This record gives sequence, structure tokens and C-alpha cells, in this order.
Amino acid sequence: MTKITRMQLLRGDLKGKNKPFRPPWAIPEEHFVDYCTRCDKCIDACFDELIVKGRGGFPQMDFKQGGCDFCEDCLNVCETSALKKIPVNKNSNKREESSEDSLESYLPPWHIKANIDLTNCLSMNATICRSCGESCDDKAIKFELKLGGIAEPVLNIEQCTGCGACFAVCPVQVITLTSIVIKKESVISQKAAG
Ligand code: SF4
Ligand code: SF4
Ligand code: SF4
Repeated sequence: MTKITRMQLLRGDLKGKNKPFRPPWAIPEEHFVDYCTRCDKCIDACFDELIVKGRGGFPQMDFKQGGCDFCEDCLNVCETSALKKIPVNKNSNKREESSEDSLESYLPPWHIKANIDLTNCLSMNATICRSCGESCDDKAIKFELKLGGIAEPVLNIEQCTGCGACFAVCPVQVITLTSIVIKKESVISQKAAG
């Protein structure tokens, strides 16, 4: 029998298809809905108004407004640890820590990645457009010239931080954002609602 989570019940999503993007550094969803008190402080803290009140009053990202610059303002006002930096588990028994190693490092703020559907991309269809590449501060999108003068947007998944800037600017909405859920040894790619 399929298990229905509390959050699915709260947002009326019994099949569990629509998973909202939580703010950066959100702890795993099943804990997030327990820790988050729906105080709205992260919503108020985001200068770019990227965080909105979602189903059940829980905060979620609205990438239609723009990309996240990981300023940490939302993280800093969260008093319940629903948004929390998780230190990377370091395997330090192999060698002595250098001064660089002793700097604390953390898991990424989320596991969101962009994806471009080239079929309806303007640049692939004889219309000049570089909006996604120009908006990407991390230079994760580069254009490769193809036969016939077509410039194909090519996304480097490793460099993509999932900030959502390209999603917001694409005039024909062919860019999607996907949350990569890491569970023990398996990696499940799950499309999330924007
Ligand atoms: S990190 Fe900054 S820009 Fe990103 S959601 Fe939080 S407050 Fe907004
Ligand atoms: S490709 Fe990734 S890093 Fe670049 S703008 Fe899009 S989401 Fe952000
Ligand atoms: S912004 Fe959209 S239409 Fe323009 S090049 Fe990028 S993917 Fe194609």
C-alpha cells in the first residue's frame, strides 16, 4: 500500500506528484513539515520575493520571479532549523588536516538542476536568443554553433547550481527545474512543481 505523507495530505496531493521546491538549505521534506512553524520569516526576508506561501502555509520557491543568489537571508532568519546548513561529513582519518581542510564545508543548498528542452528553444529554431546563457552567473550554459548557423544551448549539469535564473528568463518556457532526491545508494530524479 502506498504511504501518504502528512505533507501530501496538507496539499491535497494524494499521489505525491507535486513536490514544491522548498527554500535553499531546507532539511528533507518529511522533517521540514515538522520543523517549519509557517512563521513566514523566510518569505519576508527574501528581497527578491522568491519565496511564497504554498499549500498548508508552508514556504516554497517561486522561480517565476527570478533566480536565487544564495544570499542566506532566509537561512539566517529561520529559528527552527527547518532551513539549516548541514556540514559535510569529512573523512579526515587518512591524513592530517591542512588549514584549508579545517574550514567547515557544507552540503549544497539543494539538489535542483535545470534542463533545456531543445525542441521549442528559439535559438534552435532560427530566432536569436541567448537569454538563458546571459542570465547564468555560473556560466553553466554555453552556446555551440551547429550546421546551418544554429546556436545550441548546452547545459553543464555539474556547474548548474539550480538557481533558477534561466528558468525565469526563457521567453518560451522550455527550461524546467528538477529536484534530484538522494536516498542512500539510489538517486531518484523527481520533477517538482515550480
Ligand atoms: S537565499 Fe536569498 S535569494 Fe535565495 S531564497 Fe533565500 S533570501 Fe531569497
Ligand atoms: S543553468 Fe543552472 S546555474 Fe545556470 S542559470 Fe540555470 S539554474 Fe542557474
Ligand atoms: S532562453 Fe529559452 S529559448 Fe532562449 S536560448 Fe535559452 S532555452 Fe532557448
